[in-house]
Amino acid sequence: MRFHILTLFPEMVEQGLQTSIIGRAIEKGLLFVETVNIRDYTLDKHKKVDDYPYGGGAGMVMQAQPIYDAHLAVVEKVGYRPRCIYLTPQGEVFSQKTAKEMANEEELILLCGHYEGVDERVLEEIVTDYMSIGDYVLTGGELPAMVLVDAISRMVPGVLKNQESGETESLEGNLLEYPQYSRPEVWNGKNVPSILLSGNHQKVDEWRREQSILRTKERRPDLFKKAKLTEAEWKKYGENR
Ligand code: SAM
Repeated sequence: MRFHILTLFPEMVEQGLQTSIIGRAIEKGLLFVETVNIRDYTLDKHKKVDDYPYGGGAGMVMQAQPIYDAHLAVVEKVGYRPRCIYLTPQGEVFSQKTAKEMANEEELILLCGHYEGVDERVLEEIVTDYMSIGDYVLTGGELPAMVLVDAISRMVPGVLKNQESGETESLEGNLLEYPQYSRPEVWNGKNVPSILLSGNHQKVDEWRREQSILRTKERRPDLFKKAKLTEAEWKKYGENR
């Protein structure tokens, strides 16, 4: 899978994605992450990429031309127009479901805004999806772009060592994951639940499923309402649904 990130701060994105699982996947060639410095495409002789907003108001607005040309350079290189996602607090809130869906794309372009945002006219020309990472405002789209790259990449086959872990963890079937424990067996006076030491895999699975359901019900009642439970499970856990 190939990501092309249009940004004014390529070093921020490059540093953020070069370590751990994503860094390893890039090294192995499972992922390709290219940063495109929007400033390299400005026709302004002083390398300016932003200007005052028409109509007045605080801050600066990223101008259309450098973004348009940076996008065009990617399109020409790729040979077609991939989906282009503008990271913005005005977008649909990004979710695990969207991450999975986007992992089916061969190429994705991510556009990071900065300052007060981007001239609307270039967004109308190039953007296919508007994505937010939550209802708060950040200074730039670089962290949101990294969030998308990370979440989408985990869904690309081979990126996680044990693909199963991408399928059993939180949010699958709208359930949170069960609690996890590792060595030692007793820490700070607290024991690992004995069922996990029993060696009885069926009992362990049943216990984990129950923990998952109870945890979701307690911590994320909004998700719990949409959880994929059996009829018997709804009867047992679903009162006050
Ligand atoms: N004035 C803009 C508005 O009210 O919609 C906010 C601009 S914000 C200070 C600068 C940039 O950060 C945006 O263009 C966007 O790329 C990015 N950004 C900020 N918050 C974000 C969020 N929650 N999700 C995704 N991108 C965000």
